[in-house]
Amino acid sequence: MAATPPPPPVTGVEIVKGEGLVAQQQFERGALILTEDPLVMCDTGKGFSTWDKEAGAFYQEQHEYSKSILWKAFNNLELFDQGVFNTLYTTKRKASKLEYVVDAFRHNGFQFGFRNVNNAHVILYRFICAAYHSCIPNATVMINEFAPDETLHPGQARLVATREIPAGSPIVIDYIPKLWKEDSAARQQALMARWGFDCNCEGCKPAKAVMDASERSICRTYHEKGLRLSAAELRLYIGFMSKLGKWDKDLSRLCLRLAHDHETRDEYREAMHIAQSGLLVEQHFYLKCHYGELSRICADCFLEDRNLQAEYRETERAARIFLE
Ligand SMILES: [Zn+2]
Repeated sequence: MAATPPPPPVTGVEIVKGEGLVAQQQFERGALILTEDPLVMCDTGKGFSTWDKEAGAFYQEQHEYSKSILWKAFNNLELFDQGVFNTLYTTKRKASKLEYVVDAFRHNGFQFGFRNVNNAHVILYRFICAAYHSCIPNATVMINEFAPDETLHPGQARLVATREIPAGSPIVIDYIPKLWKEDSAARQQALMARWGFDCNCEGCKPAKAVMDASERSICRTYHEKGLRLSAAELRLYIGFMSKLGKWDKDLSRLCLRLAHDHETRDEYREAMHIAQSGLLVEQHFYLKCHYGELSRICADCFLEDRNLQAEYRETERAARIFLE
């Protein structure tokens, strides 16, 4: 009989009610916080390339018991895992069980496309799904992209710190990574539409100070120059605006432009420093600079899985011969 290897242990994090996922130790930038196998993984039957357009219809279709593949996936779970599933965040506590299951998938699921597989999958994790959103995240999720028939842990996820996380701090991820360049209003709108909450993170806090008339006119002068601003002028303007505690759409865009300027000249640190506004830059820059490293972690694990798999097959074969 082939034994299934136990999932890797989770250390250093805890789900704290009302606080999401909380670090129990300090994590350095780039640290692997945890490795986690899916609690449940479901093939949506919809193409991944068109998923964004089809997602709404997909979840709508799931509200019929006989046709719902999400309902089926939930019912195929072991009793213990169903219990874990029932702790996932939902907006529909008082709804029917089916509504709750569909809603939990919708609100917590990672929409994922495996390599060489057409269909989009929805994946839920016990710990990672407990992490709250922030527009300035401190961690990112990498999912093993090798297809279920290629690897021992399909859909296994790795949570990696994208900046230093002190012990006792919530581990926050970005729910809308595709919108990282958008301003706060656009991000808020997307979060409200999909998850039904107003983002209250540092990057979304309203402006702290009100400008007087002369300050306003200085800002307008800089503003109207638009794209013709030099890096030095941009820096001056950003410094002035941040002194006022005013973070808005235009300031965010200027910060970003300046950061990119430096980033393309390999001045990563400088770019990060400049871009510490309500932008989603921490994660973006981290992924941009360390993607190779992160992919290598996943590839190493894949190789390890494959070797293990071969070993298990060998043991199974030997056991069969012995029994015969
Ligand atoms: Zn936010």
